[in-house]
Amino acid sequence: MNKKAVIVLSGGLDSTTCMGIAKSEGYDLFPITFHYGQRHNREVQQAIEVARHYEVADHRIVDLTFLKDIGGSALTDETVDVPTEAEEGIPVTYVPARNMIFLALASAYAEVIGATAVYTGVSAVDYSGYPDCRPEFIHSMEETINLATKAGVTGQNIQVKTPLINLSKKETIEAGLLLNVPYELTTSCYNGKETACGQCDSCQLRLKGFKEAGSADPIAYEN
Ligand SMILES: [Zn+2]
Repeated sequence: MNKKAVIVLSGGLDSTTCMGIAKSEGYDLFPITFHYGQRHNREVQQAIEVARHYEVADHRIVDLTFLKDIGGSALTDETVDVPTEAEEGIPVTYVPARNMIFLALASAYAEVIGATAVYTGVSAVDYSGYPDCRPEFIHSMEETINLATKAGVTGQNIQVKTPLINLSKKETIEAGLLLNVPYELTTSCYNGKETACGQCDSCQLRLKGFKEAGSADPIAYEN
């Protein structure tokens, strides 16, 4: 029986790359997708398509609209504008405690299905302003997960894997292309429309990454 991994899958470029990496590392994939009222709700549909592409045995979609109810982020609060350029400090697209909540739920799922790894596509390079994308947080969360679970206490440690943490967008895309990651099924646009805007911070970062990797982005853009 293959080893199992839970993949925090948003339907974006990074988490989809993690699907390819986890598969290449010999894991059976168990993606988990969080629906939290994000503006780029379209991501959830993309996550379903990515999961289908990888023919996963199970794909969990978890409702976390509480994160929208409390707001506090440009991604969940319509009164806060999404920026078109990178900001200093912690960006307004930071979602309060998002990765801590995601990893907590992913590790609960991992424990139940007997998975030994949880993958998350965080990068400390491109999103250095997000506190929950820092290696310090990931190490601390992994320790906490193993203190908090039966799996951890009984020696079935759950590893939190962050293969992209030191990679730029260019390097992530290069790694993914080698693994035939289906980037045509992903979306990165914060505006969440049918066609990506090409203007928002996230679209710009993605386009720059493909350009630097010497490859064409397979998705459509408005302009
Ligand atoms: Zn966009």
